Amino acid sequence: MPIQKLLIANRGEIALRIHRACHEMGIKTVAVHSTADADAMHVRLADEAVCIGPPAAKDSYLNIANIISAAEISHADAIHPGYGFLSENARFAEIVEAHGIIWVGPKPEHIRVMGDKVEAKRTAASLGLPLVPGSDGPIDDVDEARRVADAIGYPVICKAASGGGGRGMKVVPAEDQLETLMSQARSEAKAAFGDDTVYLEKYLSDPRHIEFQVFGDGRGGAVHFGERDCSLQRRHQKVLEEAPSPVISSEQRAAMGERVRRAMADMGYRGAGTIEFLYEGGEFFFIEMNTRLQVEHPVTEMITGVDLVREQIRIAGGAELSCTQDQVRLHGHAIECRINAEDPRTFAPSPGLVSAYHAPGGMHVRVDSGLYAGYRVPPYYDSMIAKLIVYGSTRERCIMRLRRALEEFVIEGPKTTIPLHKALIEDPEFQEGEYTIKWLEQWLARDA
Ligand code: ADP
Repeated sequence: MPIQKLLIANRGEIALRIHRACHEMGIKTVAVHSTADADAMHVRLADEAVCIGPPAAKDSYLNIANIISAAEISHADAIHPGYGFLSENARFAEIVEAHGIIWVGPKPEHIRVMGDKVEAKRTAASLGLPLVPGSDGPIDDVDEARRVADAIGYPVICKAASGGGGRGMKVVPAEDQLETLMSQARSEAKAAFGDDTVYLEKYLSDPRHIEFQVFGDGRGGAVHFGERDCSLQRRHQKVLEEAPSPVISSEQRAAMGERVRRAMADMGYRGAGTIEFLYEGGEFFFIEMNTRLQVEHPVTEMITGVDLVREQIRIAGGAELSCTQDQVRLHGHAIECRINAEDPRTFAPSPGLVSAYHAPGGMHVRVDSGLYAGYRVPPYYDSMIAKLIVYGSTRERCIMRLRRALEEFVIEGPKTTIPLHKALIEDPEFQEGEYTIKWLEQWLARDA
């Protein structure tokens, strides 16, 4: 029986994105929301809406009991978790399935394995993917850490096994700081993730962040949709993403793409996933896998013409993959700017009333956002309020169109990072595609 009614366990632009895919497939939607989001666009557009708690995410968007109750009272037959919140919570996926509700996501055991970064690296190695050199497993004591760090060579990076969102990482430049930084990483990991397990990795000096979009049917069929370059980061968080990467040749794409495709097929992976690599000196090094839809998925949609949310929903409903690898074709270039309600210089959050709003349009311009004039950006959640995604037949034309679209974009009230994106795309090094994961922070410091 195909999915008829889907509950969206998320908020903001991604809730709207999922709602749109559902309505295009003839599926009814149920929005869930906190009291702070009663006026949100996805709540207005959904066929039904259920309030699941007060503003704090732990009481609403992370409140499993309330979300399951909302699904039961609305008779939703599927749940899509979006990204963030409960999207990588294997326990939630199991509970959803135990209630006879379709989970629009990977098998819970795969979410669990990939959610522990140490296990994820072991699994990736067993599937034949190249790793960043590092400890074979978690590191418990300093002497062991010293031995491992000596063997791989400083600088090393100490990372939380349960880490995410760029948190719980410490770069260790030399041995004399190892003990202190490791214990700091441990206590930060404990506070942020409730788990103080850490591991060590070689700290690559100047890599790019390049990730592959994959899909599996859960029965050994898999495809990849090429890569995204997400090297423009601030504090390990992505700011602007593009597809394809300006530095990857079609031969490299085909070779690495085939390796990740085969890895997913061997795993029997189901649904959407992203395999993240650092890329340095012409080589890829696996860092982690995200078992969910990514914020930056639209750039892949723009160059492949495939609706990835639709694909997720189809697969969850038991359908075959909509295409074979031979049918996947990449065309042109796409760039996404993440627009945050933040001061573009200090990055201090800037929530509040949107007094005027005008989104850019025209050919090949897409805005994913729940904003409207009169909307109040709540202070409780992530500060990303819009994504501007632009396509061009070449990277150069894409940047020209992006410049034009940014000029048109009006958001009055909260401060936004639109001025940052405007300045960034004028930089000659950006225009040449010559940047690594360190570049943006250096550029921001230069500009300050
Ligand atoms: P998270 O899950 O918190 O996003 P990741 O492991 O994906 O953590 O790493 C996030 C970012 O941190 C990467 O995109 C990269 O910029 C940086 N990073 C992670 N590991 C390394 C490493 N070994 N060397 C250099 N930079 C790293």
